[in-house]
Amino acid sequence: MKKFQVITLFPDMFSGVFGSSMLWKAQKDEHVELSTVDLRQFGLGQRKTVDDTPYGGGDGMLLRPEPLFAAVEHAKQNDPDAKVLLMTARGQRWKQATAQAHADSADNYILICGRYEGYDERIVSLVDEQVSIGDYVLTGGELPAMTVVDSIVRLIPGVLGGEASAEIESFSDGRTLEFPQYTRPEDFRGMKVPEVLLSGNHAEIAKWRSENSQVAEKE
Ligand code: SAM
Repeated sequence: MKKFQVITLFPDMFSGVFGSSMLWKAQKDEHVELSTVDLRQFGLGQRKTVDDTPYGGGDGMLLRPEPLFAAVEHAKQNDPDAKVLLMTARGQRWKQATAQAHADSADNYILICGRYEGYDERIVSLVDEQVSIGDYVLTGGELPAMTVVDSIVRLIPGVLGGEASAEIESFSDGRTLEFPQYTRPEDFRGMKVPEVLLSGNHAEIAKWRSENSQVAEKE
């Protein structure tokens, strides 16, 4: 069973996402184990401080190395061989192929969520991969960590039920975006389902779908 431990200052943010829908069911069916490690627990002193100002000056605060190292070491005690992924806008761009490779591997994961202006760079010495979910800056690494976990877990065999549903999806071959889909009713406010999809002619349907798939823009 694949295991994910997420190091975060905001574990409550994960209860909704990990406790609902497909991620909840994947845990119930014992395909995955999802947990959080509260970074605050490893804070310094009575106030459990986790951040400090940057050397050299500049706005904002950085996560200090001591709590981050302690949290990773704690997570490694639970799972010594787990791969450590750091959420950072400076990381390798996360793609469907990356999610697939991680779903196919036998690895377990520890994900680190940055906050404030980021983290002390020395944490990188414990990290196997630096991950960016796109070229924009979020307030913290929690949404990226949820994105990474969700995109991997739904590709683990057995999680989605109909395995083909992941195979024909957007990006599953690298660049193709899925064709438009319709469900009932056939006519909704004058907007009709394309005739060919009602025809029962599988060859014609496949042709229409292929013609209506798009190719994603190259970066
Ligand atoms: N000062 C940082 C910079 O300019 O790149 C931004 C820090 S951001 C406000 C706080 C944290 O959110 C980061 O340390 C990282 O963990 C996470 N984060 C923000 N954007 C991200 C992205 N696109 N991908 C992955 N993590 C991101």
